[in-house]
Amino acid sequence: MSWENNVRKVEPYVAGEQPKQKDIIKLNTNECPYPPAPGVAKKAKEMMCESLRLYPDMNAEKLVNALAEYYKVKPAQIFVGVGSDDVLAMAFMTFFNGKEPILFPDITYSFYDVWAELHRIPYKVCPLDEEFKIRKEDYFVPNGGIVIPNPNAPTGVFESVEVMEEIIRANRDVVVIIDEAYVDFGGESVLPLIDKYDNLLVVQTFSKSRAMAGIRIGFAIGNEKLISYLQDVKFSFNSYTMNLPTIEMGTEAVTDDTYFKEITGKIIATRERVKDEMANLGFSFTDSKANFLFATHERVPAQEIFQALKENGIYVRYWNKPRINNRLRITIGTDEQMDKMLAFLKNYLKERN
Ligand SMILES: *Cc1c(COP(=O)(O)O)cnc(C)c1O
Repeated sequence: MSWENNVRKVEPYVAGEQPKQKDIIKLNTNECPYPPAPGVAKKAKEMMCESLRLYPDMNAEKLVNALAEYYKVKPAQIFVGVGSDDVLAMAFMTFFNGKEPILFPDITYSFYDVWAELHRIPYKVCPLDEEFKIRKEDYFVPNGGIVIPNPNAPTGVFESVEVMEEIIRANRDVVVIIDEAYVDFGGESVLPLIDKYDNLLVVQTFSKSRAMAGIRIGFAIGNEKLISYLQDVKFSFNSYTMNLPTIEMGTEAVTDDTYFKEITGKIIATRERVKDEMANLGFSFTDSKANFLFATHERVPAQEIFQALKENGIYVRYWNKPRINNRLRITIGTDEQMDKMLAFLKNYLKERN
């Protein structure tokens, strides 16, 4: 007998590498290559250290109100957290307490099974089809809840709002979470459905499209009752999660829609251009609606390309996992960064012949 018998043993989520060197081209964790909205920097400079003496507003009202105005919902329909990872973990704890397994795709965000294990939630994965598309019928079975990213990660594949609605409608007795971390890069949100379906929770983040992965803001939007249950769990866990600088700077980011559209538009344009150029080098792709490409080469194994890129200071993501072990997930950087990657690939593939 040892204290170790009473330890909750979990296999933690493994995030993409965060290398220390400064001179690398970092295309491995889907960060935005552009800075946050200009108002964020201005706010950071103005903020008085004196204000840090006090606890922050535990309801993060300023940020919640800004989000409510932007997404045209009531403040009581919004829950904010420390990145969408925090929001999703809270949602798993709050809503997934049934006996039936929760459902999510086999190839998806690799945090879902980690949270399920942590909270001892039974789960079942639903295999995507050959083209990495969701098979909606898989979700028309008894279950304890559903979580689906749309667009999916790491595939970038977007499923129509119509199909999402069919899944939500067929599952009125459980909560359906749609993780829209990448929806701002050409997908379409299910947000307009929240008033129609009280079992729908939409989760989004500031980490990708709002260029603020470092500050940690995520949020959920849904029916007021759903949100209040989420608040109850959150306030039973840790009240002051949203710190003052985060609330202030996050608010600035939401209120600058022009800048938001500008950077997401640039990333989409770069994505499509890089895709064309990589296709000429023998790569093929899913139709990504995210800020990354999910690429495979006709001849050279993904793992080899991954290594070669890395040795040359270009970091992309590779998983040695079934079904995706010949794929690279490449975050869309600036045009300049992507041109450097393209130049390297062109040369590398030629030499390797
Ligand atoms: C990046 C990502 C998240 C989490 O992002 P946060 O930085 O915690 O907001 C959640 N879901 C998916 C699918 C993601 O790719």
